[in-house]
Amino acid sequence: MIKEIKVKSVLNKTKKRDTWFLDDYTFNPYQSCSYNCLYCYIRGSKYGTNLATSLSVKTNAIELLEKQLKKHAEKGEYGFIVLSSVTDPYINIEKEYQLTRKALEVILKYRFPVHIITKSTLVERDFDLLKEIHQQAILPEDLQPKLSGGTLLTFSFSTIDDQIGNIFETGAPKPSLRIETLQKAIQSGFHAGVSMMPLLPFITDTTEHLEKLFSTFKKCKVNYLMPATLTVFGNGKADSKTLMLNAIKKHFPELEARYLRYFSNNHQLPKFYRNAFHLKMKELTKTYNLKDRII
Ligand code: SF4
Repeated sequence: MIKEIKVKSVLNKTKKRDTWFLDDYTFNPYQSCSYNCLYCYIRGSKYGTNLATSLSVKTNAIELLEKQLKKHAEKGEYGFIVLSSVTDPYINIEKEYQLTRKALEVILKYRFPVHIITKSTLVERDFDLLKEIHQQAILPEDLQPKLSGGTLLTFSFSTIDDQIGNIFETGAPKPSLRIETLQKAIQSGFHAGVSMMPLLPFITDTTEHLEKLFSTFKKCKVNYLMPATLTVFGNGKADSKTLMLNAIKKHFPELEARYLRYFSNNHQLPKFYRNAFHLKMKELTKTYNLKDRII
């Protein structure tokens, strides 16, 4: 059941721009997410074990966005708006509600730059508006020499294997379809890349899987590729740690002992593992001549 809610504010100004995602603002027209990734950072008791059954739509989001953006534009406070930081901007109900599309029209009107982060193929529907934003947005002064325009498109992957995706991201479009949309974005001239957040220990961060990821994205001619490893939280039944450990037990029983050893008392992998992961990513980005940051 989809809840329709009204909110007091919809555009959040960040305290400090994140160096990975370049967000000066975040905008979330929906709450919860139909893609249901087990490792998702928004998981917890608020939304229950199936995120797709707790979706909310902020029905006054566009009206509020118009008011808030107008004020920031009048003060010349231009900066990237990230869509979306705590859901995907193209969850299934976007087809019906079209709040992301309507938000892009407002963003274009006030000439703000935009960064879309998604696992969806539906973003292709909005390439027309995103192209106009790319040409017309006013970039913050410090980013002007570093970027060619005002649209960034980041596609999110924890794997490029459809079967693995089906275990950990049950509601999301298949990785193979995401790759097709990424290719179309790059062929259309967007500044587009991927976030590999999170790569899954011993499953998608193996040498073999990493080679597949890097070679695939190199062939796609991505502008950047941002990797990070897994963090999981909580021991409640709807928490990401519980859901991930249950999935490992069911689908990768041979890895259960290692996952328990690393995660039962921690939300992140041990330092030696994170250091080795970091070095491996540096080595691969160098080998494939890829950037590990947008700028
Ligand atoms: S797509 Fe993003 S927000 Fe949605 S469930 Fe997956 S990780 Fe969470």
